[in-house]
Parts: sequence; structure tokens; C-alpha cells
Amino acid sequence: MPRVVVLGSSGYDLTIRLPRLPRPGETLLAGDLLTGLGGKGANQAIAARRSGAEVSFFTAFGDDDFGRRARQNLESEEIELTHAKVVAGSANQVALIFVGETDGQNLIGVAPGASALLSPEDVEQLPLDVFQKGRVMLAALEIRPETVEAGLRRAKKAGMITILNPAPVDLKAIEILKFVDVITPNETEMSALANMEIPELNDALGAARNLIAKGVGAVVLTRGARGCVVVDETRGAWSIDGHRVKAIDTVGAGDAFNGALAASLSEGLSLLDAARRANAAGALAVLKPGAQGGLPSRLQIDVLLEEEPIKPKRLDC
Ligand code: ADP
Repeated sequence: MPRVVVLGSSGYDLTIRLPRLPRPGETLLAGDLLTGLGGKGANQAIAARRSGAEVSFFTAFGDDDFGRRARQNLESEEIELTHAKVVAGSANQVALIFVGETDGQNLIGVAPGASALLSPEDVEQLPLDVFQKGRVMLAALEIRPETVEAGLRRAKKAGMITILNPAPVDLKAIEILKFVDVITPNETEMSALANMEIPELNDALGAARNLIAKGVGAVVLTRGARGCVVVDETRGAWSIDGHRVKAIDTVGAGDAFNGALAASLSEGLSLLDAARRANAAGALAVLKPGAQGGLPSRLQIDVLLEEEPIKPKRLDC
């Protein structure tokens, strides 16, 4: 089975669903608490696994109850953790999340704990076969950019396809674009990385070309309910409309998208076909509360694509 190597954070999420988001300074006494594994790395690892790939996950757990629970949860999803670290004396990454039920919008604060202690040296020490066994590396930025850079550099050297999800956005990502085959920003991240507003599709295309000029091979811009845009250095630009679904909770849509994209590329699909599957995975993720409850299976992705087969549209540019 094709293998994806995920490099990133494992967190524990404490989520409160409220009728609406609280305003600064306001206390809202309402809602239910939901707890569970989170962190971009862990979410993306599970998304790739559920999409059908074998997944090796390189991450750092805290030496606490949250860390132990996170590890168990990943093991129960059949994620390979041979080289994952436990950082003695450190807390695990924890996220506090508010979700407003009226519109599914969210507010998130993350205390990185052990995730901030995953170092470039840790990546340099990984055996070569971790990279040789995998076809795709997927990394996001909840860990140090230098650590991501070390991972992407080794992955490229081993001939892997590299995907960078530049979330949460960090301008240092621009310095590592030469090690990235596919970058997957959402609109906020794209706007920050390209240093321009992108109100219209044409602006987004300009911003994507700007990143390609800086060394990345292709850009897959995620646009929430509007779907995604694929801009490839050699093959041109395409838009894929969003599936028509009713959003309950948008936490985890980007992670579902990235995991499915990585799994599909590891199977040898073209970037456009992989983005179609990712677009379906992202839509399915917003149907359920919580970052991981909504991460869809391969079968669910197949069914949605059969029910609503969205054709990519070529964009003139
Ligand atoms: P992020 O979660 O990183 O902010 P987006 O909001 O752009 O990223 O969502 C990622 C992908 O998930 C989108 O490109 C789209 O494919 C899918 N998606 C997200 N929200 C919706 C929605 N309301 N309806 C349909 N698809 C959605």
C-alpha cells in the first residue's frame, strides 16, 4: 500500500460548542465540552490513513496524560509511530477551541508544549529508510519551520513528493518553498504569503504565480465552501467548485483536505485528480463536529464523488 510520511504536531483538543462565538471580554455560559486528539499533524495523519494510505507519523508527544491519550488514539487509527518522540518533562500540545453553532465559525488558541521541541536535529537523526519507504511527505507549521525545512529537504533528496500546508501561517515558509512540490494555503494564508489581498479568483491566480516564482512547484488554494484552485507550474490553472453541503463545524476541513491530497498523490493520481478527492474530503469534514470525528473514510469520499461528480474547470490565465 502507498505510504505517506506526516511530519507535525499531535495535540489534544478541548472544544466548547456555543450558540455563537463570545466577544472579547464576554463570558458565555452555555454549550458542551468535547475532548479528543487534535493537532494539525495528527489530524492530517488520520485523514491520510482513512483516505487509504499507510501512514508513518513523526511527531513529539508530551510526557503527560494528554500525550499518552494522543498516542493511544493514533495507535488505534493504525498510524505507525516507531520514530515519534516523547519529550520528558514537557506538556503535550493542547488547543482550546470555541465553535459558534449558528455559522460553524471557530476561534482557536494553541499551547504548543512538546510540539515546539521537535527539532531539526531530531529529523536529521531519522533513519534514511523512513524517507525511502514513503512516496509523499506532508508537513504543516504547528512545529518549528526549521524542523519542517529539515524534513522537506530530506524528503526531496529521497525523491518523495513534498506537500507543505502553511498553517498556521508563518512567513518563514517562503524561505523553504524550493523544497516544496505542492503548497496548500487557505485564502488567509495565501494572502499573507503572497503579501496581497485576493478578493477575486484572478487575484488568487496572481498570488499563486507569485509563489511559483519563489520556487514552489504547484499551489492548491483552498477556498472553503467555494472549493479549491489548482495552479501548476507546467499544466496551468483549474478551479474545482465546493460540494454542496451544510457546514456544522469547519474545524478540520483543511486537515481532511491535506490528508486526502497526500494519500491520493501517494497512489500515483495526478495533482488535479488528487485535489478532486481532497475537495470531497474537506466537504465531508464540515458535516460533523470536532476536528477528527469528521475526517472521512475512503468509501465516503468515493460515494460523495459519485453522487456529486464535480468537474474541474480550466481557468484562462
Ligand atoms: P481551512 O480549514 O484550512 O481554513 P478551508 O476552509 O479552505 O481550509 O477548507 C478546506 C477545504 O474543505 C475547501 O477547499 C473545500 O474543499 C472544503 N470545504 C470547507 N468548507 C466547506 C463547505 N462549507 N462546503 C464545502 N466544502 C468545504
